[in-house]
Amino acid sequence: LADRLQNTIQKIRGKGKVNEADVKEMMREVRLALLEADVNFKVVKEFVKKVSERAVGQEVMQSLTPGQQVIKVVKEELTTLMGGEQSKIAVSNRPPTVIMMVGLQGAGKTTTTGKLANLIRKKYNRNPLLVAADIYRPAAIKQLETLGKQLSMPVFSLGDQVSPVEIAKQAIQKAKDDHHDYVLIDTAGRLHVDEALMGELKDIKELANPDEIFLVVDAMTGQDAVNVASSFNEQLGLTGVVLTKLDGDTRGGAALSIRSVTNTPIKFIGLGEKMDAIEPFHPERMASRILGMGDVLTLIEKAQANVDEAKAKELEQKMRTASFTFDDFLDQLGQVRNMGPLDELLKMMPGANKIKGLNNLQIDEKQISHVEAIIQSMTKEEKTHPEIINAGRRKRIAKGSGTSVPEVNRLLKQFEDMKKMMKQMSGMQGKAKKKGGFK
Ligand code: GDP
Ligand code: MG
Repeated sequence: LADRLQNTIQKIRGKGKVNEADVKEMMREVRLALLEADVNFKVVKEFVKKVSERAVGQEVMQSLTPGQQVIKVVKEELTTLMGGEQSKIAVSNRPPTVIMMVGLQGAGKTTTTGKLANLIRKKYNRNPLLVAADIYRPAAIKQLETLGKQLSMPVFSLGDQVSPVEIAKQAIQKAKDDHHDYVLIDTAGRLHVDEALMGELKDIKELANPDEIFLVVDAMTGQDAVNVASSFNEQLGLTGVVLTKLDGDTRGGAALSIRSVTNTPIKFIGLGEKMDAIEPFHPERMASRILGMGDVLTLIEKAQANVDEAKAKELEQKMRTASFTFDDFLDQLGQVRNMGPLDELLKMMPGANKIKGLNNLQIDEKQISHVEAIIQSMTKEEKTHPEIINAGRRKRIAKGSGTSVPEVNRLLKQFEDMKKMMKQMSGMQGKAKKKGGFK
């Protein structure tokens, strides 16, 4: 975003004053940048409208550095959009205070349960009890117990043969008996939001009457994070969101959308796997992060360190056969439905599973038909030179394919990421000059 804006600002600078047309042009850039940062389309629209109004106002027009001024307005509005800082945790006047952790599988619930308990003990000097109520995921109980051991904190579990509701019930009794003032319930997740999951969570909620229900969402999932947050909020009524995995290469656009779509505050962010890698959510910092969007390349650099020679060679072979226009991409998709070449490529990258950002590159089987439709709605030129696909074209493609602009954006980004990754990987082999499909 910063780069885009800088270009526009350069142009404006010589003028001394900016007019509405200039602001309009800048707003186009802002809009595009936000969409690229994975911010919800509706949110972007509303946001740009607000900023435009302010930007054509006196505050900006009469300042000596209108470009900078616009950035300032953008940042302020982003901050406002994400709400104030709200990292307080409820205290029940009838202890124990019950906190229920919910979210999809792999979002970071169990990890965050440990982190929060640690924080509560450190910051509030309290004595939490951890509760293992995920009886479905293999080793989920063990995982929490390990964390408990690490933190020297008790973990309540009844194995995986007792219902989560019963576990919660007995845990709360246990907390009362042993004078624990906080109870943190680590619940089960699923791969997708489903009825069974919600039913169980509602039952636990009814019984445990939690003071807080925290949704744990993986920041890497971008737009999906917003949908997930909406459903959980509708079904359970959340009191806060914890956005995890912000230590990876994610732009954090989800943060903007979550707040404005669900009206639930983001309270904490997760910044790593360690038990102290949790921080209160600072909207202003997040705004800076979104403005200064990270680059996949830094991620690739990290990956490089891990890739061993032989595997990389093998990988390059694969890449040579998979060339990089959208036409080729479409061919591949047609052939490989389940184990897409992307997934395969990813699996071959040693350490790839540790680099969370790379998850973004995965193409879900269910999305494939959308992806196909999107590509088919591109012109020949767009398919070979996707960089020309500007906002107007994105809109047209979305319309033509019966999808949405964020979906088109996502695909373009995935494609771009993939290309970058492949370029980088082939560069590593010391073959800077290649004739095959790399650009
Ligand atoms: P759950 O299925 O929701 O309980 O998720 P887990 O707590 O088991 O976490 C899934 C994976 O994400 C584990 O490998 C965690 O170590 C990792 N994880 C959780 N939070 C973070 C975070 O903030 N940053 C990073 N890098 N990894 C995280
Ligand atoms: Mg878990």
